[in-house]
Amino acid sequence: MGIAEKEIKKFENHNCAENAVFYQAMEEVIYSIAPLLESDEKYIKYAILERLVVPDRIIKFKVTWLDDNNKIQVNTGYRVQFNNALGPYKGGLRFHPTVNEGILKFLGFEQILKNALTGLPIGGAKGGSDFDPKGKSDFEIMKFCSGFMTELHKYIGARMDVPAGDIGVGAREIGYLYGEYKKITSTYEGVMTGKPFFFGGSLMRPEATGYGAVYFTESMLEIEGKEPLTGKICTVSGAGNVALHAIEKLQQIGAIPVSCSDSKGTLHDARGLDLKLLKEIKLKRRGSLQEYVKSHSEAKYIPVDEYPQDGHPVWDIPCYAAFPCATQNELCETDAKNLITNGCVSVTEGANMPSRPEAIELFLSHKICFAPAKAANAGGVAVSEFEMSQNASMSRWSFEKVDTKLKETMQMICKRVALTAKDYGVEGNYVDGANIAGFKKVADAMIAEGI
Ligand code: NDP
Repeated sequence: MGIAEKEIKKFENHNCAENAVFYQAMEEVIYSIAPLLESDEKYIKYAILERLVVPDRIIKFKVTWLDDNNKIQVNTGYRVQFNNALGPYKGGLRFHPTVNEGILKFLGFEQILKNALTGLPIGGAKGGSDFDPKGKSDFEIMKFCSGFMTELHKYIGARMDVPAGDIGVGAREIGYLYGEYKKITSTYEGVMTGKPFFFGGSLMRPEATGYGAVYFTESMLEIEGKEPLTGKICTVSGAGNVALHAIEKLQQIGAIPVSCSDSKGTLHDARGLDLKLLKEIKLKRRGSLQEYVKSHSEAKYIPVDEYPQDGHPVWDIPCYAAFPCATQNELCETDAKNLITNGCVSVTEGANMPSRPEAIELFLSHKICFAPAKAANAGGVAVSEFEMSQNASMSRWSFEKVDTKLKETMQMICKRVALTAKDYGVEGNYVDGANIAGFKKVADAMIAEGI
């Protein structure tokens, strides 16, 4: 039994249905860092893994709120404060009916290493609720956010824990959450990031994750000696914050994004997407992608109930580069096979852990340039940290300044990940490079800080 298997065996009790995605993320990290554990006994001696896979604390609370019919509704809220070895807990809030402790543990665990890779002083956390914002009125969203913050405010603070957005939590929700925090605590501090610009948000925070993923890809393709994205067909999944801004940046650099998807279906516009219309549908009207084909009859819309039994239609579209930007485990083995058969050269994870382990294996064994989420989508949290810096110093940075710093950060992460992979004998493997570099940074801080 190798060192990775021995370590994984210690955590078998974490492997249950609710923890499935957390366990998947943990296993990947342990396999990646095996060479580090072999080469330096201190990580075992100081029981770093045992300490890292258990959150510092999980806060679980009841959220009660009144719907528009004055009926009382009850949801569950969570904050998983995972690790603050490098700085205050930092990570988004997700509002989605699938949210449970296991999903938030997976996201919080990934966030620790992602935040470490940015080189910025931030720890890892995640939170959210099983509340579904879809179909709710603005007032219902406001009332839920107030109820959520009534409890959460006790556990967060600008130097303690700074939440942000994630699926189902955009500028509107952050505004309501922040407003309630301010009301309860009578303070005006940078306790949340992703705020609208006119009351303390950073320019470019909405764009940061999608833009950052494209910057990372450009850097990775250059390091790996591949052709740049300009003029190349790209496929994107998702149609939310990350996907739309990845599409925007791809268009800005002259690439041709041709697809996106939401929970109801997939859109393929072979001539290149009409981003203005997409934003109108998804951001303003909060509608379905089906509406797109009313204005562009040549585009193809495939509703979910017409999807093939195995695989997702987005990944069957021939492309040079693929950007999964919807949700976890959305890209399976069949999808990976389709992408490889169709000549795809690069896959960048905009969403958190969108590729299943079997798909990643295939990408790596076929020498596809594969950018894992914790490195490629770190642009969002990096700009969140820039927002914390601006709030702390009561200053405002220009769009250009944030963009330049974002690009530099993504290039730095990419180089660090590529170099780490090379140093540990797995050149070109950005999964291992990211896991080793992120883990080492956090683990060394934990050792230096004592138990
Ligand atoms: P949004 O809520 O803005 O968008 C999510 C998109 O994915 C929507 O189009 C949604 O469809 C679709 N989607 C969600 N769940 C499913 C599902 N189960 N099946 C199919 N489609 C689905 O979220 P974000 O864009 O912010 O987040 C997307 C991913 O990126 C997540 O994994 C998130 O954790 C990750 N991420 C986000 C960051 C950020 O800055 N926002 C930072 C780093 C990572 P519909 O429109 O129908 O709801």
